[in-house]
Amino acid sequence: MPVTTVSVPVETRASTGETTACLLGAEPAVLVDPGAASDPLDEAVAGREVGHLAVTHHHPDHVGAVERYAARTGATVWARVGRADAFAAATGVTPDRTFADGTAIPTGSGPVRVVDTPGHAPEHVAFASPGSPDALDGWTLACGDLAVADGSVAVAAPEGDLRAYLTSLRRVHAMAPDRLVPAHGPAVEGEDVRATLRRLVAHRLDRERRVRAAVEGGAETVTAVCDRAYETDLSRVRDLAEATVRAHLEKLAVEDHVRWDGQRASPP
Ligand SMILES: [Zn+2]
Repeated sequence: MPVTTVSVPVETRASTGETTACLLGAEPAVLVDPGAASDPLDEAVAGREVGHLAVTHHHPDHVGAVERYAARTGATVWARVGRADAFAAATGVTPDRTFADGTAIPTGSGPVRVVDTPGHAPEHVAFASPGSPDALDGWTLACGDLAVADGSVAVAAPEGDLRAYLTSLRRVHAMAPDRLVPAHGPAVEGEDVRATLRRLVAHRLDRERRVRAAVEGGAETVTAVCDRAYETDLSRVRDLAEATVRAHLEKLAVEDHVRWDGQRASPP
């Protein structure tokens, strides 16, 4: 299945400052994550029939141009089942249809399948495109903010859910796509796909160990846990680091590894 990517400049905290919009399949294609309008994306959309429009999740840097491209293409606009109102609030567009895990969105090159991948955001999904009929080019997962080639993605309270995120990473690792197209930064291919997913799991578990050790060492507040769990200078990303620590404390509390009342943490 043809996969066209167009990187568009967006206002995002992702270090690339760009979101990768994807066109999956052809005649008609599915447009995924039009985070902002750009001339190259206008051209890509004008150059083929776009029959469907969907986003991996509702963050502003993924939905910024949904309204524009929905109007331009007349595409069927999809949202996650149970999240149609949130989608409309985020995009200004009322969805035509809803999808769930496994839903097939029809394109002229075969179905694009929805893969539930919550964690970064509760409604987060990825889109799987099969290879060409002779399957020589393998299959691609447009994975939104599930994964990045370098660094990590934000999984931060209150929306981020680390238990869901780790499950999503492991699920996609088991599915073993031939290619990941993250929403930020370069694509990941071949053996690097599973290595990247394993790296992201290890990164989370390493941070979790640090958070747990900080609580066991007497750190009670999010600020105190943060100071012990990160050794880098946090001055510019303090709010994000603290929201990440909160997400870790929520996971550890559910698993009975710490006590956490939303204000103070302590060993169980
Ligand atoms: Zn996001």
